[in-house]
Amino acid sequence: MEALLEVKDLKKHFPVASTIPFKKSTQSVKAVDGVNFNVYPGETLGVVGESGCGKSTMARLVNQLITPTSGIVHFKGDDLVTMNKETLRETRKKIQMIFQDPYASLDPRISVGELIAEPLVIHNVGDKASRKKRVEELLEIVGLNKRFADRYPHEFSGGQRQRINIARALTINPELVICDEPVSALDVSVQAQVINLLKQLQAEFQLTYIFISHDLNVVRYTCDRIAVMYLGKIVEIGTYEQIYSNPKHPYTKALFSAIPKESPFDDKERIILKGTVPSPLNPPSGCSFHERCPVAIDICSKQEPNVVTTANTHQASCHLIQK
Ligand code: SF4
Repeated sequence: MEALLEVKDLKKHFPVASTIPFKKSTQSVKAVDGVNFNVYPGETLGVVGESGCGKSTMARLVNQLITPTSGIVHFKGDDLVTMNKETLRETRKKIQMIFQDPYASLDPRISVGELIAEPLVIHNVGDKASRKKRVEELLEIVGLNKRFADRYPHEFSGGQRQRINIARALTINPELVICDEPVSALDVSVQAQVINLLKQLQAEFQLTYIFISHDLNVVRYTCDRIAVMYLGKIVEIGTYEQIYSNPKHPYTKALFSAIPKESPFDDKERIILKGTVPSPLNPPSGCSFHERCPVAIDICSKQEPNVVTTANTHQASCHLIQK
C-alpha cells in the first residue's frame, strides 16, 4: 500500500543564543534528530515517549507549523518542505491538528459556530448560509447540539470543548489528523468517550491519524502501529502487538513494562530506568540511551546503532539486535 505520509531524516535543531556578547553560538537543541516513518491510509500511528522526547515538535514539523532544519515530508507524494506557500496552504487543508489543551486552544471571545467555521473562512470555502449549515452538521457529528453554535467556549466542559476542537479539525474534510495528546487534559471517564468518538469518525470518514501520547494505556486502545521516541529519534517502530508483546529496544522494554499486567500469568517484570532523559542540547555520544541502558556494552557510547529490521513492519536501533 502506498503511504499517505512519508517522513525521511527529519530534523529540527533550535539554535541557542550565545552567552558571550557579539559571538554567534554554535550550539543547538536537537529536538528532532533524523526521524523516518511512513503513515498509511486509514491507520493510526501512535507516537510515544517521555516528556521532551520531541513528539510534539515532530507533529508540528509534519504539519509545517514549524520549518524543519532538514529532511523530507511527503504528503501523497508531494514534498511539503519545498512546496511554494500557495500550494502548501491548499495541501494543509488535508492535514489538521487536534491539540492537547481544550481550554487553551479555543479563543474564549469567539462563538463556537465562528470557531468551527474559521477554517472555511480562512480557505474561502462557501458562503454564510453554507458555513452555518456545515457548522450545525459538524456539531451533530461530534455529538453536540447544533444550538450550541451561538454559545462561547467557557460554557462547556473539557470533554465538550475537545469535541468542538475535533469538529473544527474536520471542517474542511482532512485526510490526516494529528492528535497531540488529545485526551491527556481530560478526566479519565471523559477520555474514553473522546477516544471512542475519534475511532468512530475515523471509520466514518476514512481518516488517518498520528496519535501522540505519553499514556500507554490510551495508545493500547487507539493505535495500529507505534513509534517509540527517545531524545529526538525513533528508536523502535512496529505494530502494537510487536511493540507490546515482543519489544526489541531496551528503552521500549522499560517503557512498556510500566503498563499494568493484563493477566496474573503475565510474567513481565517492571524495569525501572536510572537517571532522567539527557538534555537535547548536549546528547550523549553513540547511542543516546547508553547512560540509562541496563544492558549497554562498550561500543554503545562510541557508535550510534543502525536501524535493524527484525520483521516486516518491525524496526529498532540497538547494537544488541540481530536481524
Ligand atoms: Fe542499550 Fe547499547 Fe542498545 Fe543503546 S545500543 S539501547 S545503549 S544496548
